[in-house]
Amino acid sequence: MKKHNYSAGPCILPQEVFEKSAQAVLNFNNSGLSLLEISHRSKDFVAVMEETRALVLELLGLEGKGYQALFLQGGASLEFLMVPYNLMKTDGKAAYLDTGTWANNAIKEAQLFGETIVVASSKEDNYSFIPKGYKVPTDANYFHCTSNNTIFGTQIKSFPELDIPMVCDMSSDIFSRSLDFSKFDLIYAGAQKNMGAAGTTLVVIKEEILNKTGRTIPSILDYGKHIKAESMYNTPAVFAVYTCLLTLQWLKNIGGIAAIEKINEAKANLLYSEVDRNPLFTGTAVVEDRSNMNATFLLTNPEHQEIFDKMWKEAGISGIPGHRSVGGYRASMYNALPLESVQVLVDVMKELEELVSKQ
Ligand SMILES: *Cc1c(COP(=O)(O)O)cnc(C)c1O
Repeated sequence: MKKHNYSAGPCILPQEVFEKSAQAVLNFNNSGLSLLEISHRSKDFVAVMEETRALVLELLGLEGKGYQALFLQGGASLEFLMVPYNLMKTDGKAAYLDTGTWANNAIKEAQLFGETIVVASSKEDNYSFIPKGYKVPTDANYFHCTSNNTIFGTQIKSFPELDIPMVCDMSSDIFSRSLDFSKFDLIYAGAQKNMGAAGTTLVVIKEEILNKTGRTIPSILDYGKHIKAESMYNTPAVFAVYTCLLTLQWLKNIGGIAAIEKINEAKANLLYSEVDRNPLFTGTAVVEDRSNMNATFLLTNPEHQEIFDKMWKEAGISGIPGHRSVGGYRASMYNALPLESVQVLVDVMKELEELVSKQ
């Protein structure tokens, strides 16, 4: 039986993506060949790449606005250094918002390239909130933030208005909510959280921000080279890109980001209402900054852990233990997780309350 999969990533994808991608591995487009054994330069695969890149811009509302979508490798983690390599001037500086482990990793890489100003950090409070009211230096080459903090369960609800390029790591909430994506000059996201199989990273860049650093960039790390090569500078992660295409087609068919946003809000409301109502649970993130993708919560009495763990496992739930830096539980409610799965978890939380009240 299919589990209720709350894994933080790699994670649940739409069932039709699993089925169609499995079919393509066996016999791609009825060609008598597997997706995995054809040239990435073949007509059929070039069409996949082109359609996926176009669909990204269409769904984000960025068509005809000077943006390019690329499918690269090395994970979101490689973007931590590609961003400063391509955007930080040789004698320049960059501004970063420190909202979690991934933001912090991005900061560490930027420091290898030049002056890296941390405009604000919630590290002292174990990243339980999103700092606000910070000032971004107007002479920084760019500002970098992380839209959703996968580990700590916080999400930026309002982004600053800036006159310098804004870069955002959207690995764990891309395509999950409506934003004015044209406010961002560079967006990146590892595929494996809301888009497809692990192995590729989406990078969306406003072309005009490139070529301003005075740096010599190794070819494979140069966004300009990837754009020129139409995201085929080297062999792309063909399977992972194909799964992204299938997921984005699924998203478009159900009504795009606006439609999924409503479902994501319903899922998050259902779970957080129970966390707040049920005296056996408590949330870890400040309420106004709670993530609609990754909900982090604790048992108020750790003695209930054994029984609760047994109960959710028996209900067919998978993947909710929290990250070791927060503990407790983390329910990742990515786009493909159905509302019914959240109801199953909420029902288990209620049953625990009943059981405990009888003891
Ligand atoms: C998972 C994650 C990453 C790391 O992604 P990789 O593809 O494993 O490098 C970076 N940033 C955020 C916000 C993440 O959730």
